[in-house]
Amino acid sequence: MNILHISAECYPVAKVGGLADVVGALPKYQQALNIDSNVVMPFYNNKFSNNNEFEEVYKNTLVLGEQVHGFRILKLTNHSLGFNLFCVDVPKLLFTEYVYSFDDTERFLAFQIATLDWVLTLENKPDLIHTHDHHTGLIPFMISESLKYKSLKTTPTVLTIHNAQYQGWFSHDKISLIPAFNTNKIGLLDWDGAINPLASAIKCAWKVTTVSPSYMEELKQNANGLENLLKHEAAKCIGILNGIDWNVWNSETDNYLIKNYSKTTRVEGRKANKKWLCEKFNLDKNKPLFAFIGRLVGEKGADLFPEIFKKALEENDISILLLGSGNKETEEELKKLLETKNYNAYIGYDERLSHIIYAGADFLLMPSRVEPCGLNQMYALRYGTVPVVNAIGGLKDTVIDIENRGFGICHNKVSVADVTNSIQRATSFYKNTKKFLNNSKKIMTIDHSWDNSAQEYINVYKSLKK
Ligand code: ADP
Repeated sequence: MNILHISAECYPVAKVGGLADVVGALPKYQQALNIDSNVVMPFYNNKFSNNNEFEEVYKNTLVLGEQVHGFRILKLTNHSLGFNLFCVDVPKLLFTEYVYSFDDTERFLAFQIATLDWVLTLENKPDLIHTHDHHTGLIPFMISESLKYKSLKTTPTVLTIHNAQYQGWFSHDKISLIPAFNTNKIGLLDWDGAINPLASAIKCAWKVTTVSPSYMEELKQNANGLENLLKHEAAKCIGILNGIDWNVWNSETDNYLIKNYSKTTRVEGRKANKKWLCEKFNLDKNKPLFAFIGRLVGEKGADLFPEIFKKALEENDISILLLGSGNKETEEELKKLLETKNYNAYIGYDERLSHIIYAGADFLLMPSRVEPCGLNQMYALRYGTVPVVNAIGGLKDTVIDIENRGFGICHNKVSVADVTNSIQRATSFYKNTKKFLNNSKKIMTIDHSWDNSAQEYINVYKSLKK
């Protein structure tokens, strides 16, 4: 079976969030299960593109409304990723230093059109096309309705929703950017008066998956306007929990760490990583270290951080370290807080630092209001760090509270009081050293590798076989 994943992000090529981690890992694990699974993504002007060799496998022009753009399909020549990587080079639109921008409608439409134009010419066409999020959400519609792609109509399509908050909306004025289709079918593109690529994909894909079972259920109640659509399409929807890349996220071999460690050497290993963090960020290594890693947006509860941190630091003898960027107001508030003792923050993106934090922090805070799956808590568990989470979406599916014979700290609402109460419970837990250290061993043994989930996706593919 030959699967083509189409995505805006793929680790380590270009990463903004969890989408990249999934698309960089899932195909590799599917390859190991004898599925020929490969990835096509935009060619961005970044470190990966500049440091790796690509060969041109196809070249043509594409039509985007009244514009004509030259494009190339480039194939990564080395096999370091564990699958074939194809990149769509549309120099004027996609070859940028960033992944997302203000003109994403045009950028990702060009990407999707170029991809399908190229697929049309392939001798060995994919047996199934797997699209990810709204950036590639018009693919199922174009395959089933655009006259140009008629010969692909019987190719099954799967949509995975990594985040339903962002839907890629654009106005009907831009409809001519989409390759010609029977206009009776315009309803398949529209939701609430706008062209909505995510809604369109939910309508047109043969199967829709979300990245955790709980998120699938929650979306029927809260999906940024798509609740009724998801209820209506429930029969073809399924939640499959993400895995994590067991090889990348391995504390025994992770090159980013200050000291590698196994389950048996975890106490010393984790101590060395914590010491490095505390020295670098001027924190006291003897206090329990709470960390946050991620995008500073409302979904992650980030707007409450300044208040949460102030209160938690007043009430408990702890340190807090934050790594993230996003909302500018929140960033400013968090910078102002830098004068507070026992708190520090790196406002920005730093892959290496994130790995050291997973290995050196005692607790990872995730007071998310929305969390489709969440990978951070799984990385934390794998590295022996206790997640402190709002039990929602994937967090609900992966973290069990210590009070319920589990291993993490959960709350059921996102408010300053709920989160600081959890921090207090976590601090008491930390003080019971024996229990706390035994718990770190227990959580390191929880299996969140891709093996099971990669197979679940394959089962979905097989159920759709032409
Ligand atoms: P989302 O996709 O909603 O941002 P996920 O939990 O699914 O959240 O994935 C987030 C990924 O991005 C994790 O691999 C996390 O370590 C990484 N990440 C997020 N922000 C940063 C940052 N500022 N620096 C380094 N890594 C980050």
